[in-house]
Formats: sequence, C-alpha cells, structure tokens
Amino acid sequence: MSYHWTLTDMANYPFLDEAKEYIIEKGPTLDDLQTELDEVVIRAETRVLEAIEDGKVASRSLEDDIQREDELFSYPVARMLVSCIADNFLIRRYALGEAERVSERLTSEETEVILVLGEELGIPGVLNNDTIFLSFIDYLENTTNLKGPSWKLVNQDLRDGQVLIKKSRYIRIIKENVMLNIIDELPVAVNDEILNVFSDYIENIQKRLESSRFKIESLDFGRVETNLFPPCMKYLLAQQKEGVNLSHDARFALTAFLNKVGLNEDGILQLFSESPDFRADLATYQIEHIIGEISGEGYTPPGCDWMKTNGICYDPDPLCNREWMGHPLTYYSVKKRGNRKEVDEDKDNP
Ligand code: SF4
Repeated sequence: MSYHWTLTDMANYPFLDEAKEYIIEKGPTLDDLQTELDEVVIRAETRVLEAIEDGKVASRSLEDDIQREDELFSYPVARMLVSCIADNFLIRRYALGEAERVSERLTSEETEVILVLGEELGIPGVLNNDTIFLSFIDYLENTTNLKGPSWKLVNQDLRDGQVLIKKSRYIRIIKENVMLNIIDELPVAVNDEILNVFSDYIENIQKRLESSRFKIESLDFGRVETNLFPPCMKYLLAQQKEGVNLSHDARFALTAFLNKVGLNEDGILQLFSESPDFRADLATYQIEHIIGEISGEGYTPPGCDWMKTNGICYDPDPLCNREWMGHPLTYYSVKKRGNRKEVDEDKDNP
C-alpha cells in the first residue's frame, strides 16, 4: 500500500520511517537547540510533563510548516529528555502519553491512513466492508497486555488465521504497539554534553516527576481495608500470619505499605499478632526499626519495579497489568476509589 506522508502526518506520527529520515536530513543539531530553537525544546519538555501529569500528550494545532517542524523535531528531543532521567516509571508514563495522543489522532483519520500506519508498524490489516482482518499472530503479539475477556483469542471471530475486528479495536492495538515500541526503545544513549545542555529541563522534569509520585504517596486512604490490598501485599500478609519467616525485603515492603495506608505501630503489631508464632518483642523491634527507617531516612514503600526485581511481586492481576500501574499504593488507591472505569479493562476498550 503506497501513501504519501505529509509534514503534518510526520508531525503527528513522528515514529514513521519517513519522519525519521526527515529528522535526520533537516532536524536540528545540539548547537541549534542550544542557541535558537527554544520552541522545540519547550514543546519537548511539555510533551514529557503532560505525559507525567495528565497521562496523555495533548495534540497541538499545526497551522504552518514552522509549527509542523517544531512538533516533529520536539519528539526526538522529548525522548532524549526522558533518557537523561532514565527512570522506568517515567519511560512507561511517557510511552503511554504518546500512545494516547496517537490513538486520539487516529480516531479522526480516514481508514486508509490508519491501515497504512498499521502496516508501517508491522501490524498490517486488510479492510473488508467495515471489518479489518488482522493475522492472529499479530493480534496475539499486540494484545498480551489487554486482559479483558473480550480480548481473548477464543472470543474473537477467527477465519483462516485472521481475526476480524472493528476499526476502534485496530486503533487500540496500534496504540498498544506504539507504547510498547517506545518502552523498548528508551532510554536512548545520552552523553555528558546532552546532559549539560538540557540540565535545567531535566531538573524541572525530575521535580515534577517526584511531586507526581508524592501525590500517590501522600494520599489519605481512610479506613484500612485489607481486602482491597494488591495481590503482593495480600500474599505477604498471609505469609506473615502463617508464621512464614519473611525476607528483610518482604518485611520492609509490607510494613512500609501498612504504615503508609494508615496503620500505626500498634495496628501493624495487631495484624502481625495473628501469626501462630508471634513474638511481640521481636515484631515490635522489627516494626520500629522499619518505621524508623521510613521516617528517619524518608523511605517510602517500594514500587512495582522494585518488588519485581526482588521477587516479591506475587500473582499480579489484570489491574496490576495496566500500563500505568507502578506502585502497590496506586493499586490500593484505585480500589479504594472504587473506580470501575479504570478497573474494568473493557469499558475503555470497546
Ligand atoms: S504489580 Fe505491583 S501491585 Fe501488582 S502484585 Fe506486583 S508489586 Fe503488587
């Protein structure tokens, strides 16, 4: 399928091969960015900040070629800014933000454009009447993280190795593909010169990133409801109650989590006292030590990446597998809010 991508298309979909070639041919050098291209760097920073704070990079209206080029060139700069910080939560958040923007754009595109874009991303679909035929292999590869029952292959209309889907579903698959590609590609290599040139922007992004994390951590959770705990914490709590000797990492994660959701030392002791071999003196010492570590050193409960690295992320469920899930406290907070829109995969993926 041949299609001529315009500069507007390239600005909207800067991961296209044509867009990459355009950037290589006409894009700014580091010197240009330092001396005369404030607009590009500011837009790049905005992309990252919007992704952190809103979960979506907002589309801009592109009135002339200067704006189109600024938009296009800001994409690799935004990737550089993210790479300078190289934080997993930021990379995921940024990837999601860009993918949301692409998905929103695509809903107003002609089907032909959507199909060409899908083809360029390696997930070619064929249009037949109002239905898109997609190879079941491509379908499976790009829906691993889409957990609702309506995404399961057994629930699809499957004919001769092709899955028949609606356009809205094809766009959802493209969104997933864009997000996973960005996560795969980042961080890109950055050197000291780049770190130097962008130092002010990096500092600002880091501050906003931490403040965004802090918002999660300073939530008032109200009454503690253990039935709403994430699977990892339910598991660790059950192990603790059964008298299993938890590793230091596990004990630290559990105690810090319990403390953060509102249990004081006595409350944690009470929960731990249900263990058959509970020893008040030892438990008190351990809890005080950990809570002391938390308040003394400013530690907060570890996030999902840390839990996974340390082998204590147990039985992640569909909510855990949402792309924005990065912290057991986020899980608990979503459950507490009873936010069905976010919990139910299918509602926002019709
Ligand atoms: S993904 Fe996070 S919240 Fe879910 S079980 Fe693992 S550590 Fe817990």
